Amino acid sequence: MSSATNGSSKSAATHKIKFTKLFINGEFVDSVSGNTFEAINPATEQVLATVAEGREEDVDLAVKAAREAFDNGPWPRLSGEARRKVLLKFADLIEENADEFASLEVMNGGKLFGPVKNFEVPIASETFRYFAGAADKVRGATLKMSKNIQAYTLREPIGVVGHITAWNSPAYMFATKVAPALAAGCTMVIKPAEHTPLTVLIFAHLSKLAGVPDGVINVVNGFGKTAGAAVSSHMDIDAVTFTGSTEVGRLVMQAAAMSNLKPVYLGLSGKSPFIVFDDADIHKAVELATIGNLTNKGEMCVAGSRIFVQEGIHNVFVEKLTAMVKGWPKGDLFDLATRHGPQNNKKQYEKVLSYIEHGKKEGATLVTGGKPFGDKGYYIEPTLFTNVTDDMTIAKNEIFGPVISVLKFKTVKEVIKRANATKYGLVSGVMTKNIDIANTVSRSIRAGAVWINCYLAVDRDAPHGGYKMSGFGREQGLEALEHYLQVKTVATPIYDSPWL
Ligand code: NAD
Repeated sequence: MSSATNGSSKSAATHKIKFTKLFINGEFVDSVSGNTFEAINPATEQVLATVAEGREEDVDLAVKAAREAFDNGPWPRLSGEARRKVLLKFADLIEENADEFASLEVMNGGKLFGPVKNFEVPIASETFRYFAGAADKVRGATLKMSKNIQAYTLREPIGVVGHITAWNSPAYMFATKVAPALAAGCTMVIKPAEHTPLTVLIFAHLSKLAGVPDGVINVVNGFGKTAGAAVSSHMDIDAVTFTGSTEVGRLVMQAAAMSNLKPVYLGLSGKSPFIVFDDADIHKAVELATIGNLTNKGEMCVAGSRIFVQEGIHNVFVEKLTAMVKGWPKGDLFDLATRHGPQNNKKQYEKVLSYIEHGKKEGATLVTGGKPFGDKGYYIEPTLFTNVTDDMTIAKNEIFGPVISVLKFKTVKEVIKRANATKYGLVSGVMTKNIDIANTVSRSIRAGAVWINCYLAVDRDAPHGGYKMSGFGREQGLEALEHYLQVKTVATPIYDSPWL
C-alpha cells in the first residue's frame, strides 16, 4: 500500500486550475461582493483554489440572464434537431476532456482517477447523447374532445430551472440535470455544492464551445444558506431540482412553496437494503456488497448499507466479506489499482467517524477498520460491522462513508418487513437464484429500484429516484424530461364537420 499522504500528489504537480469565477451570461465573472472561498484537496487538506463566492445578488444576476435567454433568446425556440446537434457536440467535448474532469475530481473530491475517467465521465457524455436523441422527439397528443372542439397538447419547456447539487459525483450530477433540461429547451442556474465548485466550471466553459447560447447555462458557486436558498426561493425561477440530504430537501421544498410555488424535484438520502439469500452466488454477493458500499469511499446515495444475510450462509459470507474489505486497495488516487480514497470534506470525515463510534458503543461487532489512517487527508479505513440490529444508529441513519453493516435474518417475510422499516426508499439489492423469491421481494420493497443479482445498475435509460423520504421525481430515462416540460392544451372549435 502506498502512503495516503501522496494520494493526489501527481495532480498537484501537473494540473492547473483554469476556472474559479462565477459563470453568468456566458462570461466568467467575480462575485458582486468580491468574496471568495477555498476549495480544498481532501487528500492533502491543502487549499487547491480560491473560488468566487456567489450570494443572493449573484443568483439574481444569473436568473436575469437565464430569464432573458428563456423569454427572448434562441434556445427555447430552436428546433429539436438544432438542440440535438448542440448536445451531441457537448457530449464530444466532455469526452475529449475526460482527463481534465478526472484530475479535478481527484483533487477536489478525493475521487479516483480511473473510475471517474472510465465510468463517470462516459456516463456524463452518454447522458448528453441520450437526451440529444430525445430533443427532437418532444411531442404532444391529439385529443378527442366531447364537444365540437378539436384539441392537441403542446409540451413546452418549463422555463428557468434552478439546479442545486451535492458533492459526491459532480460530473454525473451535472449531466443528469443539465442534459434533459437543455433538451427540453430550458435555461438554468446551477448552484454546485460548496465542497466541489470546480468541475461545473469546466462544463460551463465547454458549453460555450458546444454552441449553447449565452445565458442558457449559468453557474453560481457558493454556500447553501446563501446562494442555495436564493435559488430555491427565487420568484423568477420556474422549477428547482435538488440533489442532497433529506433535511435540506425539506428546506428547498419549503422555500419553493413559500415563494412562487415552483415545482421541485428532490433526489435525497438513502439507507438501502442489500439482501443475500442462502441460495445466492456467495462470491458474487460478497463482491457486490463490497462494491455497493466502498465504491467512491462509500459516498454514494445508493450504497447498500444494510446488508441482510440469511442465517444459513451468514458466517461464510462474513468471513469472505472481511477478507475483501481488509484487502480493499489503498494508494495513490491516480493509480488505476487504487480503490479507496479520502472522504470528500472534513465535516463528512468527522460525521463518518462519529457513526463508527455509535456502532461500537451500541454493541455492533467491529470486524475490521474503524479508524482514520495516513498522516494527512480525510482517510478512514474501510470498516465492517457485524451483529448489527435494526435499532442501532448505524442501521437507521445514512452514513455516506466506507462503513458496512451486516444484519442476520431467517425468512423472506421477515426480511421484507425489516428492509422496508426505514424512512428511506432509494434502491435495493436482492441476491438469490430463486425466481419466486426475487419476484416477491422486488414487488414488496418500497424503493425506486430493485437490482436482482447485480448492484449499482445505474444507466441513462433507467429512471433513478426515491420512494418515501428519499425524494420524488426521476432522473435519467425519458421520465427525467418531464421535470423540464409542461403541458398546454390548445383547443379550437370545428364547425360543420361531417365526422362529428
Ligand atoms: P446537502 O443537503 O448538505 O447539500 C446539498 C446542496 O444543497 C449543496 O449544494 C448545498 O450547498 C445546498 N444547500 C444547503 N443548504 C441549503 C438551503 N438551505 N437551501 C438551498 N440549498 C442548500 O447534501 P450533501 O452533503 O451535499 O450531499 C450528500 C447527500 O446527498 C446524501 O444524503 C446523499 O444521499 C444525497 N444524494 C442523493 C442522490 C440521489 O440521487 N438521491 C445523489 C447523490 C447524493
